Amino acid sequence: MSPVDVNNLPIDLSKTPLFRGVGMESVGCFLETCHIQDVDNGTTLVSPEIRSKNVYLVLRGSFSVYLTEPREAELTSLQPGDIAGEMAIIEDAFASAYVVATTAAQVLCIGEDDLWRMINSSHAVAMNLLLILCSRLRFDNEFIINSDSIMEQYRRNAFTDALTDLHNRFWMLDMYARKIKRAIGNSSSMCLAMLDLDKFKSFNDRYGHQRGDEILRATADAMRDFFRPTDLIARFGGDEFVVLLPHTDMNTAYTIGERVRTGINRRILKGEEPGTGITVSIGLAQVTPGDNLNSLLARADAALYRAKQQGRNRVETQDENV
Ligand code: GH3
Ligand code: MG
Repeated sequence: MSPVDVNNLPIDLSKTPLFRGVGMESVGCFLETCHIQDVDNGTTLVSPEIRSKNVYLVLRGSFSVYLTEPREAELTSLQPGDIAGEMAIIEDAFASAYVVATTAAQVLCIGEDDLWRMINSSHAVAMNLLLILCSRLRFDNEFIINSDSIMEQYRRNAFTDALTDLHNRFWMLDMYARKIKRAIGNSSSMCLAMLDLDKFKSFNDRYGHQRGDEILRATADAMRDFFRPTDLIARFGGDEFVVLLPHTDMNTAYTIGERVRTGINRRILKGEEPGTGITVSIGLAQVTPGDNLNSLLARADAALYRAKQQGRNRVETQDENV
């Protein structure tokens, strides 16, 4: 630490956010009682665990600001001219963030008594401090907005299948269970379709996994087009998809299933991939009063199995005897 020679600092204080527009003669006497501190790279200058009595004005080097330990995500950085620790002084409280040197650095330490004296004797210092606090608030608000949209993105990703952009199995398990319960409660007809690509393994073996992925994406697009907007489509896993058809009896479900099967064949799979022989099989089951998601899935799966047994590229409804 060394006493301050205001005229011999590495930066021009009158150009810093705290002293911009301030008549330096009005604060010079307070600055002279401040001191300069060298800070090693990696040193924590401000911490919520230490009650600091200084505001630090960066003279050389740079600092990172973190909200939490361990220091994972840098909130912002401080460069020469920036200040740290002012909120703790104004509030007379612990700091709200960690400020850590990311280079060898040097700071001007302004004691809390000197800061208050400067605020009292210079309207410009008080105004500058308000502006600094406002810009911190604005920055924090933007940070919160961004964090919210990042969280929303995470939430969406958790329920979305990355390859096809359809809803995934987690979403399906929750959403279908609730819809089925409600349909039973309302005595409303509802069907479930299980759709599986035919001989997709040999397609992958022959044309490669990447072409296989394209087929899965094309199938998802076709399903979005050929099912109705109210139908709830999800990728069950692998080459298997499920669709819940609200307010739909088995006859209608069969008609829709056929439309989807022929539509996928004609427009997407055979149209774009002539000769690859990709088709889909569909199994249908209708909700009955004693059903839950598992029992419904089991019947649709059994119907799908029969569609496969009977030569694939067809729609099968649940066995009436089941
Ligand atoms: P089947 O007609 O009996 O359904 O025959 P299949 O070959 O389609 O058999 P199955 O449905 O059991 O095989 C699914 C295949 O789907 C296995 C795997 O090679 C492929 N597969 C699963 N997930 C993916 C994926 O994300 N991308 C690609 N390209 N292929 C996948
Ligand atoms: Mg398959």
